[in-house]
Amino acid sequence: MSTPKFPFFDITRQYGKIKSEVMSRFEKLLDTQALIGGAAVTDFEKAAAEWMGVKHAVTCASGTDALIIALRAAGVKEGDEVITPAFSFFASSGAITWIGAKPVWADIRPDTYCIDVEQIKKRLTPKTKAIMVVHLYGQCVDMDPILDLAKQKGLYVIEDCAQSIGAKYKGRSAGGLGHIAAVSFYPTKNLGGAGDGGLVTTNDDALGRTALLMRQHGMPKRYTYEIRGFNSRLDSLQCAYLHVKLPYLAKWNERRAWIADYYNKNLKDLETKGLVLPVTQQGNTHVWHQYVVRIPNREEVRGRLAELGVPTDVYYPKAIPREEVLREFVAGGDSWPVADKAAQEVLALPIFPELTQQEIDLVIQGLHKSL
Ligand SMILES: *Cc1c(COP(=O)(O)O)cnc(C)c1O
Repeated sequence: MSTPKFPFFDITRQYGKIKSEVMSRFEKLLDTQALIGGAAVTDFEKAAAEWMGVKHAVTCASGTDALIIALRAAGVKEGDEVITPAFSFFASSGAITWIGAKPVWADIRPDTYCIDVEQIKKRLTPKTKAIMVVHLYGQCVDMDPILDLAKQKGLYVIEDCAQSIGAKYKGRSAGGLGHIAAVSFYPTKNLGGAGDGGLVTTNDDALGRTALLMRQHGMPKRYTYEIRGFNSRLDSLQCAYLHVKLPYLAKWNERRAWIADYYNKNLKDLETKGLVLPVTQQGNTHVWHQYVVRIPNREEVRGRLAELGVPTDVYYPKAIPREEVLREFVAGGDSWPVADKAAQEVLALPIFPELTQQEIDLVIQGLHKSL
């Protein structure tokens, strides 16, 4: 295997553009020593809520914590069942198990890799308390049928928006489609922090307040406790960093969409050779956290691409319920054939706003040589 001609993801390019802004903002903030809470936090939360088109945005320590807070705020407790897709990053299911609830995995759709509402219906039980959808790779789940089902059954809908900040569904914003949602600011996400960070969003006043209380010991006022919470504050420096980046996010997401469109056009001829291009569901505004193709003989093609110096990655090599550490939650006889097949065939091509035209063309040429 030869060395890649360029990185799969390079965050230093973006940092170069915002460095001076970050430094001056950090210097001012550090001079005040308002390191926890304060205007840096509330200003960013206000800006993030406005940008996302949601009523409430509560920062917290990570996307995983945001999921935990969202689940708890929705009243999910030990022994409850939460239906979630069999294909996602581990944290979606991990958060459910961490609070003592039981993940129940529904299979995904083969076109969008997102949860399939028909598969949710099959797994409803009297213990089902919530549905946690994942807007995977940057596009929204087909929400309306799920929202209808949830309403009919009295279930909460939690959105995992870790990969989908800025995505829209029929003109409505991800993060405000269900009852409550979680965003991640992990450095490689579309809006990456200078470390870990997360955000809980909701349009529901009561849920917003519960999330706010929960991330700081359930304490609305010093030494007054309303509920049992914990500490998942996001540092003021992180909020300042994210606030510097937020005004660029729309442009960055647009650039991702441009690259995806360019890939679509220039890889289309390879469909006859078995390449399956990503499908954007009608009505969706995709933010292209990942550009994922499907190739039946993925490992072979991936190896050839590597020899040509074209970096790729796989999200995710296994369906979630196949993870050994989750085995105790797997119901006997349940299966997820669509997720299993996706895990064998998906291949992510490089996509980030600062990817150069030359690099994009190298990916396209590489695939033409490798298929
Ligand atoms: C990144 C990610 C998370 C977890 O976010 P962290 O900030 O790393 O805790 C959760 N779900 C999905 C789908 C993710 O991609």
